[in-house]
Amino acid sequence: MLKATDIKKSYGNLSILKGVNFEVQKGEIVSIIGPSGAGKSTLLHILGSLDKPDEGTVELKDTMISKLSGDLLSSFRNQNIGFVFQFHHLLPEFSAIENVCIPAFIAKKSKKQAEARALELLDLFGLKDRVNHKPSQLSGGEQQRVAIARALVNNPSIILADEPSGNLDSENASSLHQLFVSLRDNFQQTFVIVTHNEHLAKTSDRVVTMKDGLIV
Ligand code: ADP
Ligand code: ADP
Repeated sequence: MLKATDIKKSYGNLSILKGVNFEVQKGEIVSIIGPSGAGKSTLLHILGSLDKPDEGTVELKDTMISKLSGDLLSSFRNQNIGFVFQFHHLLPEFSAIENVCIPAFIAKKSKKQAEARALELLDLFGLKDRVNHKPSQLSGGEQQRVAIARALVNNPSIILADEPSGNLDSENASSLHQLFVSLRDNFQQTFVIVTHNEHLAKTSDRVVTMKDGLIV
């Protein structure tokens, strides 16, 4: 599904990624763990084309995404990659369903199509009676599930998550992990997750450890 080859990245003369090779198969949940500063977030951003490597390539399905730029890249990313961050980044003025619809509108789906898919996801995530709530009216766990629905609305090939349960208590964190597992089991959804959470790492199919800019 995703293949990164010999990724190198420096900031100034500080070498952050020193030649990383990384592959994920369809339907696999891969966790990336390792000490703070190891380069995990930098790698995730490069895998998701939010950031460019200095050297190396990233291929998603048949597309060399590290070669795309501008509107073509933005549009490819919006339709093929779902992002989940530690803080949900929902827009406070918009309801749950409106937030979930945003990537679908950017992808020029009709309102009817976007809302149908958003409702389907919110219902699947137990949020049917929360669709018109603003983020501030939702619990932390509910906000994060809305963010995951938003990440899934365009049926992306892969979800990239950076500490998705980092801001949740252990009960909400564990139901979030269950949600990831059920999305894998039922829809063959693929995940790459940067996490400090041992339980999440244990429920993954594979754990990759980074240290000093390399996979060890
Ligand atoms: P991790 O996610 O493993 O904690 P990061 O990828 O966030 O590690 O960061 C690795 C190193 O890169 C850190 O030393 C961090 O300070 C540095 N870094 C990350 N982003 C930038 C940036 N935009 N400019 C300069 N240094 C950065
Ligand atoms: P972290 O929680 O790992 O610190 P952030 O949420 O701060 O990560 O986001 C890291 C970077 O990714 C920021 O530069 C942010 O602007 C960018 N970013 C976040 N979400 C998106 C998105 N959906 N599309 C493009 N860029 C995004």
